[in-house]
Amino acid sequence: MSIQFKTIKELSSMLQSKEVSNYELLQETFKLVKSYKHLNAFITLNEENALKKARNLDNNTSDLSLSGIPIAQKDLFVTKGLRTTCGSNMLSNFIPPYSATVIENLENAGCISIGKTNMDEFAMGSSNETSFYGNVNNPWGENLVPGGSSGGSAAVVAAGIVPAATGTDTGGSIRQPASLCGITGIKPTYGRISRWGMIAFASSLDQAGPMARTAEDCAILMNEMCSHDNKDTTSLDETIPDFTKDLDAPVKGLKIGIVKEFDLSKLDSNVVKVFEDSKKHYESLGVDFVEVSLPNINLSVPTYYVVAPAECSSNLSRFDGVKFGKRCDDPKDLEDLYIRSRSEGFGEEVKRRILIGSYVLSAGFYDAYYKKAQQVRRLIKNDFDNAFKHVDLIMSPTTRGTAFEAGSMSDPIQMYLEDLFTVPANLAGLPGISIPSGYLDSKPLGIQLIGNSLQESQLLNVAHNFQMTSDWHLRTPPTRSK
Ligand code: GLN
Repeated sequence: MSIQFKTIKELSSMLQSKEVSNYELLQETFKLVKSYKHLNAFITLNEENALKKARNLDNNTSDLSLSGIPIAQKDLFVTKGLRTTCGSNMLSNFIPPYSATVIENLENAGCISIGKTNMDEFAMGSSNETSFYGNVNNPWGENLVPGGSSGGSAAVVAAGIVPAATGTDTGGSIRQPASLCGITGIKPTYGRISRWGMIAFASSLDQAGPMARTAEDCAILMNEMCSHDNKDTTSLDETIPDFTKDLDAPVKGLKIGIVKEFDLSKLDSNVVKVFEDSKKHYESLGVDFVEVSLPNINLSVPTYYVVAPAECSSNLSRFDGVKFGKRCDDPKDLEDLYIRSRSEGFGEEVKRRILIGSYVLSAGFYDAYYKKAQQVRRLIKNDFDNAFKHVDLIMSPTTRGTAFEAGSMSDPIQMYLEDLFTVPANLAGLPGISIPSGYLDSKPLGIQLIGNSLQESQLLNVAHNFQMTSDWHLRTPPTRSK
């Protein structure tokens, strides 16, 4: 019996038919975790607890929708009694007294959390190289980055250890690693999923979402992850549909926009070919492509890299060595305590963002940078509103290329440009999904679909149609013996 690479749907039916017991499933899962240790994808495991839960499920019947499904949780969600580091030395000793709403929702639906996945420190990064706990490796090739910041989550799903993992996406951290690891990941509309218990990076952009092998599994997870939450003031009070209901609906006649201002000729011609092939595939399903203009979209990266650091500098001020988290040894006085705790606790990229953020919010520069960025953000949102008058969805590549080698991108600006296609959806609060769409030199690549506000069902439907008629999402990286 092999459980590797199985989807939620497949594991659920194996559990129901008793082909595998809950306990066996979890035991096998932890065997896989150990044989994939070289990925460095987990920061903390929840083995004892998870096996206990599985044992209990075997002794009691449960009709919960996700009963017994093993899931990996990004280490950005606080988990009661289980260490939560957010990829940082600052929180290396933090054991939260409560769990994030997302964690509660999934566990209440029967999921078993098997551990906390490695990630860029405080979710700042596009390659998982900024984690205090070391790089995560991409299962598709030695020394390849998995993308960031939810790289650990993407790697464990791609390696087939678990069918699903949670991720968060402030500027692309679900979609980009999904693309580079050959899996499916959706960032819902801002506010769809509660941010309660998510360690804040940039509060007006942060949004949680599922990462899985298929759009169908993402829909199943969305059904449980979404909820209106009074503990999060930006949580949307909107009806939550059954995201699985319209998965099979035909896509014939749908209009998908291609952004005129995205200059694809700057990309590698093979990357463009994969994108063009995906368009042809959709055309064969009856989709019409139309060019749309989003005149301000190329201002997204500079806008994001003002707004996100500004919010991060404010959010991260709470880590001062006083209340929780790391405190330096033998502080001389209060100032020394602050300075050394923060200097020792934060890594280089986080410090860079705090500096940029403090600068753009400072009295002399606020109008020129932060206020201006907020104005441009509104223009970008207006561009999308106008585009959605003409098209149902917008499609682009998810990333500029396939996974690159760890250590090969040392210039932070180059790294920021990796987010070119993903940050616009965050700035506009819109839902976006990445699905596997091809391979170059055995490395996966994804396409991104962006939907109008609250149109996740449509995104999942369009992604599911692609997956029903292609097999990119079924490919698996080379396996390792247990
Ligand atoms: N790569 C982007 C950044 O470093 C996005 C990260 C994210 O979505 N958490 O800010």
